[in-house]
Amino acid sequence: MNEKDFTISLVVPVYNEEESIDTFIATIDKELEPLKDQLEIVFVNDGSRDRTRDVVEQVIEKDPRVSLINLARNFGKEAAMTAGLAHARGDAIVPMDVDLQDPPALVLEFVKKWREEGYDTVYGVRTDRNADTPLKRLTAGGFYRFFNAVSTTTKIPENAGDFRLMDRRVVDAINQLPERNRFMKGLFAWAGFRAVGVTYARPERAAGTTKFNYWKLWNFALDGLFSFSSWPLRVWSYVGGCVAAISFLYMIFIILKVLTTGVDIPGYASMMCVILFLGGMQLLSIGIMGEYIGRMFLEVKQRPVFLIEGVYGQYARQDKAASEEKKA
Ligand code: UDP
Ligand code: MG
Repeated sequence: MNEKDFTISLVVPVYNEEESIDTFIATIDKELEPLKDQLEIVFVNDGSRDRTRDVVEQVIEKDPRVSLINLARNFGKEAAMTAGLAHARGDAIVPMDVDLQDPPALVLEFVKKWREEGYDTVYGVRTDRNADTPLKRLTAGGFYRFFNAVSTTTKIPENAGDFRLMDRRVVDAINQLPERNRFMKGLFAWAGFRAVGVTYARPERAAGTTKFNYWKLWNFALDGLFSFSSWPLRVWSYVGGCVAAISFLYMIFIILKVLTTGVDIPGYASMMCVILFLGGMQLLSIGIMGEYIGRMFLEVKQRPVFLIEGVYGQYARQDKAASEEKKA
């Protein structure tokens, strides 16, 4: 196979990113110059409410390698990425943030490992998270450790994000997954294949502001946990078992006490403790069950993960040419 005989699709979800897109394109042009004939860029507009779509359409007019998948509304980054992966046509696909926190120059290194060393997935590993606040670093680190402890089948590499290069066959595998709860980092790791990490320092956002707050991140973390582990569901059997054992011992203690020292009427405090404790635990475990049932509800409805308003740019032209060819 010819050395240049492959294409790379950059899949870039954008949500209210009007101020970031031009810088992004300029940086790609500069830093990925060696790949310029093999690169295509797929923006997924995730229901932006600012001028993001207009800006991308201006880019499309100037740059024939750019496509736009316009979603019908904001579906979230995971859904936007799912849409991008489903449409990307390259031999390798690189999901990337538009804010340049995923340094484009690293893609050259990804490609080298993919082409020369035969890896199917090359993922970026952040060496330092100095661009993140201490709280974000602490919570993110805690999440990865907890996730990997309770998820028996899928381990996500710590400090790896969505920024990675995936061979076509990895992306095909992920595209086949029918689930609606798309925790992409988990799905990427689940796919397996031959994977290797490449370290990089994660810079600050180039323009605009983050689209995630702690509430969104918390829910994101729950999605990840509940989609990849049934541990929270099972743990209650063990908690229940321990509580039952302790209650049994306590019961024996009370019986012995009654036999030796006689009947003891005032038991209000201990009764209340036991009732409240058990009641709380039951509510908690029902809540956890609810998390799973809620997710099952979401899955059985079989609603699509995203809705597309339209496809524009290079892919639209390719589709049009293909359908005209068919007619002729
Ligand atoms: N994003 C998206 N949909 C959303 C939220 C974010 O497509 O609902 C995109 C956003 O435009 C950016 C990427 O996801 O390209 C990463 O977002 P951000 O930089 O805000 O996340 P952070 O780096 O702060 O974790
Ligand atoms: Mg960012």
